[in-house]
Amino acid sequence: MANTLLQVKHLVKYFPIKKGVFRRVVGWVRAVDDVSFDVYKGETLGLVGESGCGKTTTALAILRLEEPTKGEVIFDNKDITKISKHNIRRERKNMQIIFQDPYSSLDPRMKIKNIIAEGMLSHNMLNKQKRYKRVGELLERVGVLPEYMDRFPHEFSGGQRQRIGIARALALEPKIIMCDEAVSALDVSIRSQIINLLKDIQNEFNLTYLFIAHDLSVIKYISDRVVVMYLGKIIEIADKKALFSNPLHPYTQALISAVPVPNPDYKKERIILQGDVPSPANPPTGCRFHPRCFKVMKICSEVEPKLVEVRKGHRVACHLLR
Ligand code: SF4
Repeated sequence: MANTLLQVKHLVKYFPIKKGVFRRVVGWVRAVDDVSFDVYKGETLGLVGESGCGKTTTALAILRLEEPTKGEVIFDNKDITKISKHNIRRERKNMQIIFQDPYSSLDPRMKIKNIIAEGMLSHNMLNKQKRYKRVGELLERVGVLPEYMDRFPHEFSGGQRQRIGIARALALEPKIIMCDEAVSALDVSIRSQIINLLKDIQNEFNLTYLFIAHDLSVIKYISDRVVVMYLGKIIEIADKKALFSNPLHPYTQALISAVPVPNPDYKKERIILQGDVPSPANPPTGCRFHPRCFKVMKICSEVEPKLVEVRKGHRVACHLLR
């Protein structure tokens, strides 16, 4: 799949730590620190890692909902980090996001027909009558009865609200949708329905997904390729099959060892990581994973490993693979 839709190049996002009466900057939270990857047209790229590893900030910086500190985001051959704030809205039409919390992501004071039509209105798409007709079609497609379009968000369940969130994202006919933990807050049975809906509409609407999740079972089910992040850095990228059958980075190995297997007779050895994820305000030297790594060597605390291609399409940042 060589047709690249989105290129993220050396993306950096630091947040200032301010203290005192004068709110002086005393340090930086390095939420995303020199992250580069491509997303191919029509694929689902999974972005996985523990909470606080920079996954969501990466998506927000790509969309410029958080201004990147440095780096380039080439979308459809345009560097969107160079576009003025005024014009970025136009580009965002092609890049939509579905958030984790279906309860807070829909304005409780608006009818769902207006929530879904809002983007079309601000981009001058269709007249009022056609917009609401489109809202009805989209609701039907995502599995909500069109006659409910005059209701308010609190009248729907969590799963239905996430369906409404998907309809809102589809309304602008985007090229890519960032799904930020889009199924994490849902019950297990509803979760699989929403994942299957996302899969079903992908071909129909020519969609590309950046699918962010901390749950590797979900990532394994939906992704074509997977990016693993740890403490603001990418530590492994590979296609799904290679990543799950032969994870090369010790952190990925630990994550995968914790995924439950459906066969109760198959005993898998679980790798338990010691300690918590360090603070991104004060990341460890060298390899950021070294204080928790079960294969740590002397060099690991001194030199930061580069992300290198070890097999076609499989890149890893670890001194074991030099
Ligand atoms: Fe572990 Fe060293 Fe590889 Fe980091 S570079 S993952 S500490 S072996």
